[in-house]
Amino acid sequence: MRELIIIGSGPAGFTAAIYAARANLKPLVVASSVEVGGDLMQTTEVENFPGFPDAIMGPDLMAKMQQQAERFGAEIVYDDTTELELDGPVKRVHLGNGGVEEAKTVIFATGSAYRKLGVPGEETLSGHGVSWCATCDGFFFRDKTVAVVGGGDSALEEATFLTKFASKVYVVHRREELRASKALQDRAFANDKIEFVWNSEVVEMQGASGLTGAVLRDTVSGETRELPLDGLFVAVGSDPRVHLVHNKLELTSDGVVRVDGRSSRTSVAGVFAAGDVIDPTYRQAVTAAGSGTVAALDAEHYLAGLADAEKAAEAELAAA
Ligand code: NAP
Repeated sequence: MRELIIIGSGPAGFTAAIYAARANLKPLVVASSVEVGGDLMQTTEVENFPGFPDAIMGPDLMAKMQQQAERFGAEIVYDDTTELELDGPVKRVHLGNGGVEEAKTVIFATGSAYRKLGVPGEETLSGHGVSWCATCDGFFFRDKTVAVVGGGDSALEEATFLTKFASKVYVVHRREELRASKALQDRAFANDKIEFVWNSEVVEMQGASGLTGAVLRDTVSGETRELPLDGLFVAVGSDPRVHLVHNKLELTSDGVVRVDGRSSRTSVAGVFAAGDVIDPTYRQAVTAAGSGTVAALDAEHYLAGLADAEKAAEAELAAA
C-alpha cells in the first residue's frame, strides 16, 4: 500500500507532491486524463508568482512544478479519479482506467471549475462562439467583436488578452464597480479596445449554429437590449470541485471542504485537502501552493504518528 495519493495537479497538488516526495513518501499524483496542471494551463503570463520578476507563462510554471515533483520521486498517473473510498485506514482511489490505488493518506486538491451563467443558449452555443477560456479560443476572434462577462480578475485578464485579436471587447458587468485588482483595472481602463457595459447581465445567448449576440438586461432599470457579438467569454468565477467527496467529507456553507483551523485536516482521519477546494476567498496560485505545503506536512505528520503507533503495538506484542 502507498503512503500517499494526491488528487489534482494544480499548484496545490504539485506543491504537495514536491514536499511529500522530498520527505520520501513516494506520492502518486492522479493528474487528470485531459490536462495536467489545472487552471494555470489556460492562463498566459503569470506576473504575481514570486520568483519570476519577468512573469512566466502559466503552462511553463506548471511544467516546472511537475518536473520538480518528479525529480524527487513523485509518480504521476494521467487519469481521472472516478470514486473515492475514504473511511477506514485504507483509502481507495478508483481511476478512469478501472484500476484502484490504495494508500494510508489522501490529499484532495481538485481545484475549482468555471461557473456557468445558466441562461438560454449557453449550452448549445458552447464551443460555437461561447467560451470559458480566452487563451484557448481567443485566436479564433481576430478582428471580431467579443464580450467578456464578469468583473473580477479573470474577466479583466481575459478582456485584456482578447484585445490582441479582437477589434472590440465589451466587458459586461452586473454592477458599476469592479471586483478586480487595481492593477488589472488600470490596464483595462487604459486599453482603447475595451468598453465597459455597466449594470448589465446576460439573460440570453443568441444564434443557431454560432453565436450572433446576447440579450442584456439592465440591472437597474430592468430594460433589455440586444448586443451583436461574434464571441462571448464567461468569466464569472468558479466553484470548488467537490462532487467526489459529497457525503464523504464535511463541507462548509460556502461549499468548500471543511478543514480544521489553519491545517488541511478534513473531517476524515488521513484525508487532507488543499488549494481552491478549501478556499472560498483568496484562490491564488501562490496561496494554493502554500496550502499544498500544509497538506503535505500534515500528511507526513499523520503518517509518522501511524508508524509510531504500529511500533508501540509491536513492542507491546513482543513484551507479552
Ligand atoms: P471572482 O473574483 O469571484 O469574480 C467573479 C466576477 O463575476 C464578479 O465580478 C462577479 O460579480 C461576477 N459574477 C459572478 N456570478 C455572476 C453571474 N451569475 N452573472 C454575472 N456576473 C457574475 O472570480 P475570478 O475573477 O475568476 O477570480 C477568482 C479568484 O482568482 C480571485 O481570488 C482572483 O483574485 C483570482 N485571480 C487572480 C488573478 C491574478 O492575480 N492575475 C487572475 C485571475 C484570477 P460581483 O462582483 O457583482 O460579485
